[in-house]
Amino acid sequence: MKSVRIVSQGVVQVYNLNENALEFKSEGDILVGMKACGICGSDLEKVYGKYGMASARLGHEPAGEVLSIGKDVKGISKGDRVFVHHHVSCNSCHYCRHGNNTMCEYYQKSNIDPCGLADKFIVPAWNVERGGVLKLPNNLTYEQASLIEPLACCIRALNKIPFQKGDDLVIFGAGPAGIMLLNLAQLYGAGKIFVIDINNFRLEFSQKYTPDAIFINSLKENFHKIIKENTKNRGGDISIIATSSLTALSNAFEITRKGGYIILFGVPSKDSQFSLKASKLYSNEFSIVPSYAASEIETNQALKLLADGRLNLDFLITHKYALEDSPNAVICAHKALDCMKVIITTSS
Ligand SMILES: [Zn+2]
Ligand SMILES: [Zn+2]
Repeated sequence: MKSVRIVSQGVVQVYNLNENALEFKSEGDILVGMKACGICGSDLEKVYGKYGMASARLGHEPAGEVLSIGKDVKGISKGDRVFVHHHVSCNSCHYCRHGNNTMCEYYQKSNIDPCGLADKFIVPAWNVERGGVLKLPNNLTYEQASLIEPLACCIRALNKIPFQKGDDLVIFGAGPAGIMLLNLAQLYGAGKIFVIDINNFRLEFSQKYTPDAIFINSLKENFHKIIKENTKNRGGDISIIATSSLTALSNAFEITRKGGYIILFGVPSKDSQFSLKASKLYSNEFSIVPSYAASEIETNQALKLLADGRLNLDFLITHKYALEDSPNAVICAHKALDCMKVIITTSS
């Protein structure tokens, strides 16, 4: 079988893995054959980030078919079509009881083996027993199911703030996450939504599918002016930083209304720093809300939104690569010249 790993900063390799190396550590484990798995901005940060981590696992958005189950597994059978969540919290610790599930000490510890970008992977009993494996309804394809995790992260971000119908949003970043957030916010009844990027392809592409939003190329247009003019000079109620660019964060300080929310959603480069106008933060009462990953609450909500057809995000998947071709998929997603969501699929 094959899997994908980072060999050095910016270099990804497909390697052969002896299937026997994948052993159940407990009778509560299951083995899943990957069918589709998206490449996420956080995968790209692992590969290309300044401090590229050689041991980092790639692929945390997998959907696939259950190939075998341990003797103690309940409620899941061989042949089930599933989405697998790689990190699952304990639901009972201090953090979990406060709704900070992604801060749970077990959240990072739980993981699939070897990773989502593999022909097959083991899901540990911890994840299986705590709702980390969601069965897919027949109407949901594996490719659609690979959008559950990123959508869940978007749901969590908007759940973290007191979103009101009619709120105006400013989204920095027209990548897959930014456009998912746009579609979700529209479903929730947002008012005007401004999407800012410098990537013309992504702006034009997204405009085709989401014509109600206002797309702005910040290299060509004055987004401050456009946003102020369209929000009675207030600025957006909510700004979302759906990019790793920290310039967006300082820009958010200029175009978010007083008392508004700034959601830090994109993964900043490791050890990157930013300085803020502290007096403005205070006097304008901005709330900066970071949102990292998602829990089972949101993966279930995401599955339902997709399965019920309330959100159709199929258009976001512009590129599909075979597992063997993962290095090119990563390059494609990184360059972002003509792609939105890039996913890996297997035919097996
Ligand atoms: Zn992700
Ligand atoms: Zn916990």
